[in-house]
Amino acid sequence: MNRPTDTGTALVDRFGRLHTYLRVSVTDRCNYRCTYCMPAEGHVWLPRNEVLSHEEIVRIVTVMAGSGLRRVRLTGGEPLLRRGITSLVAAIAAVPGIDDVSMTTNAHGLAELAGPLAAAGLHRVNISVDSLDPARFARLTRGGQLGAVLAGVRAAHEAGLGPIKLNMVVMRGENDDEITSMAAACLPGGLLAGAEETVLRYIEYMPFAGRWHENVPAGEIRERLRAAGHLEVDAGDLPGVGPATRERWTPAPRESAPGASAPSVRVGFIAPLTEHFCARCNRLRLLVDGHLRTCLGYESTPSLRDVLRGGATDDALLAAIADIVSGKPAGHLAETEGGTAFEGVMTSIGG
Ligand code: SAM
Ligand code: SF4
Repeated sequence: MNRPTDTGTALVDRFGRLHTYLRVSVTDRCNYRCTYCMPAEGHVWLPRNEVLSHEEIVRIVTVMAGSGLRRVRLTGGEPLLRRGITSLVAAIAAVPGIDDVSMTTNAHGLAELAGPLAAAGLHRVNISVDSLDPARFARLTRGGQLGAVLAGVRAAHEAGLGPIKLNMVVMRGENDDEITSMAAACLPGGLLAGAEETVLRYIEYMPFAGRWHENVPAGEIRERLRAAGHLEVDAGDLPGVGPATRERWTPAPRESAPGASAPSVRVGFIAPLTEHFCARCNRLRLLVDGHLRTCLGYESTPSLRDVLRGGATDDALLAAIADIVSGKPAGHLAETEGGTAFEGVMTSIGG
């Protein structure tokens, strides 16, 4: 077992992976019901007293920052729904050692909050947009408003929360006909673009029990982009090293957005099914109920909430975290649809 120390070894697992990145699901609630993420109805929200408080989240982040944690991403559910989200951002940004605070959001509500969040210390946002067709967007999100999301994207650009990364979960027969048009919208001058470069990431649909769609493998998405332009590896600098690949797409002239001044867009692929990135996984996930997930595919125990509420000292809390990290599995087993489904509910895990 790793022993907690000041040197960061507490966040190294038995395969030598150093964990510097924590995703925190700050709420399991959401104003959308995306078909790939949540059931249409019957979802039971966690009672408020089972959700980590701001103070508990900040304490866990502080203890982990003493062992090498550097980056925190707030997610959910929809993090903008968490009461006091700007003060939570400010408190996390003030933790010594934390040098990057980001958020993944559906951007419904970001038009009002982008400025205050940036002022509170938020550095960047990732925004989920799976379609640019308003009716389809409303169907995939079960009631979402594309107009509100586009206003949120614009506000995030204006507040300097960039480079903005847009996440598109690609599902066969649902939105895979928008693979190239979504990239074109991120080109300079495009609907989703701002002054700073906008990055598009294609995400493979992950099977969670009860929410089946057909995945489109990253390799097939690349082929479709190549058929409509030129795709190459792009090793350029980009904040937030993660599982996404770094590539650049230059569309054939007919795909260019009107008025585009630069011809290419950064794209990336997050392909947990067909291109495992488990071997270089540097992330931990703090679930809304205090469980620390070392791997998206598995639940882990105990809940840090229970450890905290049991009166643990910082050393005891760090020891509990170190134990969980040391038990991190080599990787998940979900390979294909019909194979092993991921465990749990995405809104508690945070993607
Ligand atoms: N509500 C915010 C949002 O939608 O961006 C943050 C939470 S959401 C759970 C985080 C990310 O998980 C989103 O980019 C979403 O597209 C992704 N996601 C949810 N369910 C997924 C699934 N079954 N497969 C792949 N990605 C999924
Ligand atoms: Fe809500 Fe995000 Fe899940 Fe959609 S993907 S239901 S916006 S948590």
